[in-house]
Amino acid sequence: MAEIAQCPECGNVRPVFDECPHCGSTDSPTLSVDTIEINLKHGQPLVEEALDNLTEHLRRSMDLGIKAIVLIHGYGSGGEGGQIKRAVHQALESNRFSDRVDEYYFGEQVPAGSAAYQSLIKRRPGLKAHLQQFKIGNPGISILLLGAYARSA
Ligand SMILES: [Zn+2]
Repeated sequence: MAEIAQCPECGNVRPVFDECPHCGSTDSPTLSVDTIEINLKHGQPLVEEALDNLTEHLRRSMDLGIKAIVLIHGYGSGGEGGQIKRAVHQALESNRFSDRVDEYYFGEQVPAGSAAYQSLIKRRPGLKAHLQQFKIGNPGISILLLGAYARSA
């Protein structure tokens, strides 16, 4: 998703969360969208590392004005993907991220075209491009709606 962020110093496209690969700037990028994807499996972290990474990404996402996150955690009965998914679900259900996450949906709950999907897209239109291809729901993702905007809306 590197194409959505622009470096405020050199103007090149750059990753949302990492320093600019062109000029090394660590200033916050300029975003053209309010919805991003975060791949928790990137770098193949252990479960606790993945949750810590998510905490840090949530903090920085709020600073950047991001309103919704498509969280990619994978799925499956074995392997790190399944473990990270279970840990993310548990963390959400026990309100570990409730200071920043106002609402969340598991991919299985919002198949494209369903009433739940339509309601979600109405509130966060930026999610449509990320979710519309999943006609039967994607068990490998969760959708997080960030809090400050929901409360101030
Ligand atoms: Zn730059």
